[in-house]
Amino acid sequence: MTITMVKKQLASGEPCKKCVQAEEMLKQRGLWDKVDNVVFAVEGEPDSAGMKLSERLDVSIAPLFIVERDGAETVFKSVIRFIKAEFPESRAVGKRPIDAGKLSPEQLSDLADEYQPKSPNKIIEWALRRYGTDCAIAFSGAEDVVLIDMAAKSGLPFSVFCLDTGRLHPETYRFIDRVREHYGIDIRMMAPLTEPLQAFVRKKGLFSFYEDGHPECCGVRKLEPLKRALAPQRAWVTGQRKDQSPATRGDIDVIGLDESHHNQAGQLIKCNPLANWTSQEVWEYIRDNDVPYNELHDQGFISIGCEPCTRASRPGEHERAARWWWELATQRECGLHSEALQSS
Ligand code: SF4
Repeated sequence: MTITMVKKQLASGEPCKKCVQAEEMLKQRGLWDKVDNVVFAVEGEPDSAGMKLSERLDVSIAPLFIVERDGAETVFKSVIRFIKAEFPESRAVGKRPIDAGKLSPEQLSDLADEYQPKSPNKIIEWALRRYGTDCAIAFSGAEDVVLIDMAAKSGLPFSVFCLDTGRLHPETYRFIDRVREHYGIDIRMMAPLTEPLQAFVRKKGLFSFYEDGHPECCGVRKLEPLKRALAPQRAWVTGQRKDQSPATRGDIDVIGLDESHHNQAGQLIKCNPLANWTSQEVWEYIRDNDVPYNELHDQGFISIGCEPCTRASRPGEHERAARWWWELATQRECGLHSEALQSS
C-alpha cells in the first residue's frame, strides 16, 4: 500500500490552513509516518506535481489522500474519512480519557472561569479527555454538527445521541445519516417510549401544541428520551449559544453542573463550547472546514427543530423567532435546557 497526500501551497508561499490541520491530526494519532509521499499543489502553478495529480483525479480540494493498493487507487477528500477507512482503530497518542471523579463546586467554578475565554475545541477536548465516551454530544441535526467535527478531529473517544422525536424534517433525517457516514460514527437515536406517545396522541392528536403550547408534546417526544440518553453519561455537550436567544440563553456557561437532569454517577456535567460564538463564527467554521450541513439552511431555515414547530426565518428576524412562533419569546425553549428558562 502506498499513501500520497496532496497538500496545497498558497500563491503567497503560505501553507494551506486545512492541510496543516490534517498533518497535525495525523501526527497526533501517530499516523504521519504512514504517508509515503507528499506532493504540493501550488496555487497558480498548474505544472506543480500536486496540481497535475488533482487534475488527473478531477478533484479540486486539498488536502487529498490517495491510497494505492494492488494497482487500484482510492481517493479521500477528507482526512477524517481517510483515517476512519484506513486506520479505524487509531486514537490520539497520549490522550486517553482519565478516570475522573466528581468535581467540587469550587473546582467547577474555577473550570468555568478558566475555560470561558477558550476556544470551543479546547473546551471539547477538556470534556473528552476527562470523560471519553461517558461524554455525549447532543446532536440536533443542525449547526451543532461543528461539535462532532471538533470531537472527531481531537482524536479522542466520544459518543453522540440525537433526539428522534418522529417529527423531524425528512431533510434532517437525511442529514443525520450523512453525518454518520461522513465521520464514520454511531449516532444513538433516542425515540419516545411507545406507550406514553400512543396515549398522548390518542388523547390530544398530532397537533395539540398549536392549541395549548408545546411543553406536553416536547415532554413526551424530547424530555423523556433525553433523560434516558443522559442517565448513563457523566457529561454532555450541547450546541447552545448565547446569541441564539437573548431571552433564554444569555447566561449560559461553557462548563457547569447540570442540575436539571440526573445520571447514574450522581453528577452530570454540561458543556456549552459554542456559548460565546456567534452564528457567523459557526458558519465560518462550517465553510472553512467543509463540514456537512442540513440542506434546510439553504431554504431560509436558521434554527431547526421539529417540522411542525419550525418555519423558515424572515429577513431581519431573530433565529429563535422561527421556533414555536405562536408562543411568547420567553417560552421558546423545549425544556432540554430548563435552567435557561429558570433564569429568564
Ligand atoms: S418541537 Fe413540536 S413536534 Fe417537536 S416535540 Fe416539541 S411540540 Fe412536539
